[in-house]
Order: sequence, then C-alpha cells, then structure tokens
Amino acid sequence: MKVVCVGAGPAGLYLSILLKLRDQNCDVSVFERNAAGWTEGWGIISTGNSLVRQLRTRDPVSAAAILEQSTRWTGQVLRLQGRTTLHRRSFGYSISRKRFVEILGERAAELGVQLHYNSEVNTIERFSAADVIVAADGAGSTIRDEATRAFGTKIRHGRNKYIWLGCTKVLDAFTFSIERTEAGWIWFHGYPHGKDMSTWVVECSPETWTGLGFDQMDAEASVRVLEGIFADVLEGGELVCGVSTWRNFRTITNRTWHQGNVVLAGDAAHTAHFSLGSGTRLAIEDAVALAKNLSLQGSLEQALSAYEQDRMRVIREFQRNAWFSAAWFENIERYLGLPDRDVLMLLLNRRSPFLARIPPRVYCWLLSQPRWKR
Ligand SMILES: Cc1cc2nc3c(=O)[nH]c(=O)nc-3n(C[C@H](O)[C@H](O)[C@H](O)COP(=O)(O)OP(=O)(O)OC[C@H]3O[C@@H](n4cnc5c(N)ncnc54)[C@H](O)[C@@H]3O)c2cc1C
Repeated sequence: MKVVCVGAGPAGLYLSILLKLRDQNCDVSVFERNAAGWTEGWGIISTGNSLVRQLRTRDPVSAAAILEQSTRWTGQVLRLQGRTTLHRRSFGYSISRKRFVEILGERAAELGVQLHYNSEVNTIERFSAADVIVAADGAGSTIRDEATRAFGTKIRHGRNKYIWLGCTKVLDAFTFSIERTEAGWIWFHGYPHGKDMSTWVVECSPETWTGLGFDQMDAEASVRVLEGIFADVLEGGELVCGVSTWRNFRTITNRTWHQGNVVLAGDAAHTAHFSLGSGTRLAIEDAVALAKNLSLQGSLEQALSAYEQDRMRVIREFQRNAWFSAAWFENIERYLGLPDRDVLMLLLNRRSPFLARIPPRVYCWLLSQPRWKR
C-alpha cells in the first residue's frame, strides 16, 4: 500500500510510524511544509496516564524517548490576584512540542518512512499514484479546504483572544493565574514542560484585549505588557513569544472524514479547545484507529468508514466537553466573585453542561454534598 501523509505533526508522524510497524513493506511518505523540528507553540500537556499508556502500548521505543523528555506534574493551582488555592489530586505529563515531534520524526525515519520537510502541499493532484492520502495538516488544512463542501467542514471561532507563549520561570504545578487589570480580567493556563521552561497560554476577553491596547501592538510588545501584569508570578522570569500571535480558537467539525481516498486525521478533522489539553492525544488516537483499520481485510471504503465511525463518536463527546470548558472562560466574570475555593471547584468542573444553567453558588452547594464530591 502507498500512503501519503500531508503534515508532520503528531497525527501524520504517528500514523506513519504505526503503518511501518504493522507492515515494513508499506510505502509511507510524509510531506511537511516546515523544516524538521519547526513548530508553533511551546509545551503540550496530558492529564492522567491515558496518553502515556497509549504510546507505550503502540510503540515502546518512541514512548521511552518521549517519557525521558517529559515532566510529570502534580496538583493544580488557582492563583487569583495573588492568592493561591491548591487542588492536590490531579497529575499528568508535559513535554516541549518541538521535542515531541522531533522524537516522532526520528523514529519515523528510523523505520523507513520517507520524510520530505520544507515541502508545502497545495494540491493532492501530484499524489495520483497513492492508495491513500491523509490530510494531517492541522486545523487550517489545505487538503480539507480543497473539498470543504464535500467534507461538510464547519469552523466556529471562540470569543476570547489567546496567545501561546513560553516562559523561563519553571512553574511547579498546573497553574491558572488570574489578574484584574484596568481593562478587565486576564489569565494564563500554565505548566512546566522541561527543566528550564514553562508553557503559558494567556487568554482574555476581546474587550480586555483592546482595552489593554493589544490590537495596536505586535506580539513582542504584547509580551512585554504581559510580563508587567504577571510580574508577581514571573519573579524575574521572561515570557518568550517565538512565532506565536494572538488568535481566536477555531473549533473544527466535519460531517464526514473521508472522500474517495482522502482521509482527515487530527486537527484537520476536529479540534477541541486548548483548555482541555487533549488535542495531541486525540491526534494520536486517530492515528491508532486509522492504522488499525487500514490494515484490516476489506476495501478502502470499508476501512475509512470504520475509522470514521470509531472516532467520530469519541470526538463528539470531547468537543462537547471542550465547548463547555471554553464557555467557562468566556463567562469567567460569572464565577470570580465567589470564594477562591469555590472558584477552583467550579473551574475543575467546567466541562459540566449544567454549570451555565445553575447559579454558581447553588452549583457549589451541590458539589459540597457527599453524593457529588469529586
Ligand atoms: C494554545 C494551544 C494549546 C494547546 N495545548 C495542548 C496541550 O497542552 N495538550 C494537547 O494535547 N494538545 C494541545 N493543543 C492541541 C494540539 O496542539 C493539536 O491538537 C495537535 O498538534 C494536533 O496535531 P496534528 O498533527 O493534527 O496537527 P498539527 O500539530 O497542527 O500538525 C500539522 C502539520 O502540518 C503541517 N502543514 C500544514 N499545512 C501544510 C501543507 N499545506 N503542506 C505540508 N504541511 C503542512 C504543519 O506545518 C504542521 O507541522 C493545543 C492547541 C493550542 C492552539
């Protein structure tokens, strides 16, 4: 079988690894528009063990390298205008996104995948000899957009503004830090992703964003303003911008994930708001399901339909959760007048569909009842 993957992110690279592990004779090529190791964004996080378990089961070799470079974090901290509240129970792993894709790229090359970096793909016409073309080219997928109508693509833009930054201050837990400015509330979702770096995704409402003048500045100038706002947490550390810019999160859905021999995987097929920290895991799970279905007996149409069925069900639930989680941050003022412990409790329960419908104080009371306690 001849498979072409467009995009060397987690979905495309992991699929190429799994296809080679299943069948050394499978002819797999990956085309990536950027250089090897180039990436937008800083660290990625996974909560609990599920991603680690998945990676260990599917390819112990790349899993060992990933784990060696990962940071295990415990606890979630809410820092509200300098006051700190801690939730001890959660844990997870984080890693530099650059290292993550580098490790996958090295492993793919070792297994004989043909990797073509600096090779932007603008049309699939050049791949007429391929049996399967995988659009793993991210949320802004060119391949999907060639046939948007056929896939039934919908894109919804979130209300809030965010920017994905690195930070030289190493946080010791998953941290939500919220500050009030003269233009309104602003916060970051932060976590350590290595011995000397953390990831900060800074978020605020569009009103706060324009009120602070970010619409009139480039990203570097915004970062200097953010260093002032979060000076207490930074304790002399610096924020690093890289190629990041302010964006509105795009939630992508598709009515179908395959058309002929073209199939969508990862963010090209679906996205889930970053406050869930699960997009990479979902991309890896897509790769696992697609590799499995492609290697079963039967026609290509059967394989791609089975893949779509396997994954759409799971993804729908994630997207629903992510929608509520994003809405919590879009309506953050609704919660910030409560005692800090209650704000943290509601933050941890932000995926709940009931939270927006029940007064926050009543919801907190319900959560404090023995039957509801987490
Ligand atoms: C702010 C933010 C924070 C996040 N934090 C987390 C987190 O903590 N944990 C987590 O699990 N997920 C997180 N995610 C989500 C995660 O980054 C994505 O879900 C994941 O990277 C999807 O992998 P992918 O391979 O589908 O796409 P991508 O990682 O986007 O990879 C697509 C690749 O395709 C390439 N490409 C694009 N177009 C072309 C073209 N025309 N030709 C050739 N190549 C092309 C791109 O250069 C890129 O390398 C976050 C997302 C955001 C926005």
